[in-house]
Amino acid sequence: MEERSVTGWAARDSTGILSPYSFTLRKTGPEDVVFKVMYCGIDHTDLHQMRNEIHMTNYPLVPGHEVVGEIEELGSDVRKFKVGDMVGVGCIVGSCGKCSSCKSNLEQYCSNRIFTYNGVYSDGKPTQGGFSSAMVVHQKFVVKIPEKLAPEHAAPLLCAGVTAYSPLRQFSGSDKVLKAGILGLGGVGHVGVQIAKAMGHHVTVISSSDKKKLEALEHLGADAFLVSSNAAEMAVAVDSLDYILDTVPAVHPLESYLSLLKVNGKL
Ligand SMILES: [Zn+2]
Ligand SMILES: [Zn+2]
Repeated sequence: MEERSVTGWAARDSTGILSPYSFTLRKTGPEDVVFKVMYCGIDHTDLHQMRNEIHMTNYPLVPGHEVVGEIEELGSDVRKFKVGDMVGVGCIVGSCGKCSSCKSNLEQYCSNRIFTYNGVYSDGKPTQGGFSSAMVVHQKFVVKIPEKLAPEHAAPLLCAGVTAYSPLRQFSGSDKVLKAGILGLGGVGHVGVQIAKAMGHHVTVISSSDKKKLEALEHLGADAFLVSSNAAEMAVAVDSLDYILDTVPAVHPLESYLSLLKVNGKL
């Protein structure tokens, strides 16, 4: 197979502006999956990287790490997918395969993991993300999107979704209805509410104002809403939660939230 040319949207500098960019995908290796990108989420890491706010961006940079697409071509050794399958790719597209993290299926902790974009692949080429017409990814880092899940809804689950799912999974498996606190209702928090509800938890959203109360209770299905700047409400809620998922991206004091946890809670 020849290297195929694709068009992406790339940042060329730290202005945050994207422009069309043509590049080539590597030749399809035996374990590679090539897919046409159908949907791609935007999360804040994309913006940070485009603007070089983490001071590690290599330009041109094609962002996008919540990618869903339809398989067009498979490497000769790929058995678990077929052409036409809807698949997804998240934050990483490679890892060393040898360390204890990799051997425990925790490749995200591998110190040699390869990020979906702004990384360098084993062939020496820079990785480019999902703001592109197609991608080639090793099958180990490709997941099948279930048919019942709308692909456009699946895309944000591949980073924001797993960020909430992973800690919540730690609390699943209990018989009793867990009292959940979801702190913050942004990109991760709003998914966290829905996942916690799907796990059968009783969900309280904790937010600094009541601006998102309607969204939390009416649209996302939360059971309760707690305004953290309201001392009286906070006092009533002391010792009431089994866990708190903190999704606030800024550094902030934790003391007032810790008091909401049950003394004999899981944390
Ligand atoms: Zn590793
Ligand atoms: Zn992300």
